[in-house]
Amino acid sequence: MSDTDPRSRRVVVPGVRWLRFPRRLETEYREYQCREAVEGFRVNAFYILLLYLLLITGIYALAPEAVRGRWLATYIWVGVIVLVAGGLAQVSALNRYFPWYAGLGSFLAVAVSMAIPGFIDGSVSVQLAHVSVIYALVIVYAMVGLRFPVAVAACWGGGLLGWWLSERFGHGVDWQVAHRTYTGVSLLGMFLCYTSEVRDRQLFFNQRQLLRQQQRTQALAERLHRLSREDSLTGLANRRSFDEALDREWRRCQREQQPLTIMLVDVDCFKAYNDHYGHLQGDRCLQQLSSELRRYGRRGGDVVARFGGEEFVLLYPGIADTEAQQLASRICRSIRALAMPHSCNPDTGEVTVSVGVAVLTPGPKQTARALLDAADRALYQAKQSGRDTWRLYEPPPRVRLVKDDKGL
Ligand code: GH3
Ligand code: MG
Ligand code: MG
Repeated sequence: MSDTDPRSRRVVVPGVRWLRFPRRLETEYREYQCREAVEGFRVNAFYILLLYLLLITGIYALAPEAVRGRWLATYIWVGVIVLVAGGLAQVSALNRYFPWYAGLGSFLAVAVSMAIPGFIDGSVSVQLAHVSVIYALVIVYAMVGLRFPVAVAACWGGGLLGWWLSERFGHGVDWQVAHRTYTGVSLLGMFLCYTSEVRDRQLFFNQRQLLRQQQRTQALAERLHRLSREDSLTGLANRRSFDEALDREWRRCQREQQPLTIMLVDVDCFKAYNDHYGHLQGDRCLQQLSSELRRYGRRGGDVVARFGGEEFVLLYPGIADTEAQQLASRICRSIRALAMPHSCNPDTGEVTVSVGVAVLTPGPKQTARALLDAADRALYQAKQSGRDTWRLYEPPPRVRLVKDDKGL
């Protein structure tokens, strides 16, 4: 889309000098330009009206009395045009028609301003009337907010119509004066309008590049953040993410004096599974198990994570013994129900898991580490009991596990 000139380090934007971007970008620019122009014109219409009043009172005061009335009756239409265009700009629903009504208004304003001198007698008053053309052109090129081609069409087209009206119905245009007002200011206005649009296009392009860069960086940062918290094989939360969640939930349960449950889920005889079916099949097996386990962490605050190797960990804030035991039992059953063949699992011939459960209402002297240790010991007990089963941690030597009021 853009080239960088290595000597100047300036970004060369295609089509800027010709005031035309490649197609899609051009459409985007026009929408942007239209939006900006209407917003600008909402305010500028007020200043244009002030300038108009300054001009109209000045000329009225200076013009000979004989022509004042006729001049005012004609020139008042320019004020009407500014008022109507300013009013339309306040209606947001008409925003996309801005180039049309502002372009047409500019065309008519220039035509009226150009034609007026042809209807006024007396060389001084004619020259005075030419001032209105200068005002009209400067305003259209610099204050209305039209794109260059539209402004050019409005100003030269309006001039042509004004000239025709003046020739057809008045005394014609005095080109001695008109070249020094209309033609000269038109060329100057075109130059200003062109350079301003080039700058505007460059600004638009740079802003757009910057925005895209920002979006890309943000997406990358989000991706990195997700990756740093996600286990790449299973897509579950990783150990680091679990540690953070445990710390958070531990403190919350401590504050609210709620029980916190940890379950360690370990695949039975998984080394033998790997040895028999291969490591890749072992990976697939872990993925299937994770999909199943994911279903057991649906409430806010629940966490299902890969603890490491073929071990998973589930964290349940606000769940006490009975519910924890039911959950552990359901987990064992639903893994069995997957009926994944494991010919080296001596008891079932299918993939099974053992679950160690620990429940504790955090007290002031206890640590989350102790709860994790308790779950690990319970897992050991489950393994000792023949695997494919769960165990709730039974009274620890030091850690006071809360079993409601049973006083463990
Ligand atoms: P137990 O029933 O006592 O848990 O026996 P086990 O064989 O499951 O336990 P052990 O700790 O002896 O073996 C765990 C195996 O898990 C060893 C290792 O090859 C395998 N393992 C760990 N991480 C991965 C992994 O990411 N992919 C695969 N395919 N295997 C893994
Ligand atoms: Mg293990
Ligand atoms: Mg194992």
